[in-house]
Amino acid sequence: MALNSHRYQAQLKSETFTILKRGILWATYVSAALFFVVLLNTYYFDKYYYDASNLAIKLIPLVAVIALGLFTAKVKGLFKVTVRQTYLYLFLLVSGWTFALIALALLSKQNMPGVESLADVLVLVFALALFPNRNIMLLGILPFLIFSAAYHSLQYAEVLVYPLTKFLCFLMIILSGQKIIAGWFFKAIVRNIEKKKLLSQFKRLALIDGLTNISNRRHFDDVLLQESKAASRNEQPLSIILLDIDYFKPLNDTLGHQVGDEYLVKVANVLNRALERPRDLVARYGGEEFVVILPNTDIDGARSVAGKIQRMLADAELVHPSSGVSRYITASQGIALWHKGMQSSDLLERADSMLYKAKSSGRNQYFSE
Ligand code: GH3
Ligand code: MG
Ligand code: MG
Repeated sequence: MALNSHRYQAQLKSETFTILKRGILWATYVSAALFFVVLLNTYYFDKYYYDASNLAIKLIPLVAVIALGLFTAKVKGLFKVTVRQTYLYLFLLVSGWTFALIALALLSKQNMPGVESLADVLVLVFALALFPNRNIMLLGILPFLIFSAAYHSLQYAEVLVYPLTKFLCFLMIILSGQKIIAGWFFKAIVRNIEKKKLLSQFKRLALIDGLTNISNRRHFDDVLLQESKAASRNEQPLSIILLDIDYFKPLNDTLGHQVGDEYLVKVANVLNRALERPRDLVARYGGEEFVVILPNTDIDGARSVAGKIQRMLADAELVHPSSGVSRYITASQGIALWHKGMQSSDLLERADSMLYKAKSSGRNQYFSE
């Protein structure tokens, strides 16, 4: 677990921050609701305790901060808010509330238990909103905890033990609760990241050929289908090249299957290097046959790619002691152009018949329609 957390530190940090941001937005909503409660109380009940008009001005900073938070979340969007802006806003929100609490306390002519309760509610709100980060949470709740204890102490100076006990109990309960929840939270995030990683690994495995590390036939089928749709939509040409290594069976027989496998990997690398456009795709079609998809490429373009493959394969100088055409490994290639309405199987059939022609005309060459 510790090792994993370390490995996923960056992702953990960003997910934590996202949750924290959501928590702070939630605290803003709750703040707006609490603020209305304070206003209503002031209007209906607390006017016996203090001068309401005097309080209204003292609440302006808090209103401004809540308005800023709601406005930013709505207009800018939560995802665009940076780390620094978030923490600055949190600081302003906590300060706004602290200022409002002090204003309420100073204005009250006599003991008003509502102020202490309000501070206690705020402790819970910010403890919940900021639970993923212990230090930030402490900064968020301490002003209210201290306020609550101090207010109580000032009202009942003779019994300090209760506010002190409450202060310590609240702090301990919140800190240990935070530890438990944050533990679950981090575990869930790490599992989630691992799940995503595994899923993408599985997906990769399902589409990649295990020996040569290039696309497998399943991926080729998917991509060909998509590319033929794109070609039809955009009225662009689409070509494929089917490629079969010459005299591969004799190569296996003389150098061994192991070397045969190594050669397949090398040929796959050559093909990969020969293709330049990002949308070009090379796949292992099966055995020692490969297939290349060339989007937005006509027959002439495909022929030039086939020529390049032939040259690069020769330049690779993969020694073939039992080839009938060269000292080095060669391949025969069949090129086919996709036409509107054509099925993938039709296109492959055409490429295969061109490949057959290349084979029967002496190998180490390419044929197109
Ligand atoms: P041709 O020039 O007519 O293509 O002759 P060829 O010997 O290459 O004939 P074919 O294309 O039918 O070759 C198939 C052979 O390729 C059969 C097998 O020995 C070899 N082969 C197929 N898959 C693999 C593989 O994964 N590893 C190895 N080492 N050899 C393979
Ligand atoms: Mg073959
Ligand atoms: Mg062959």
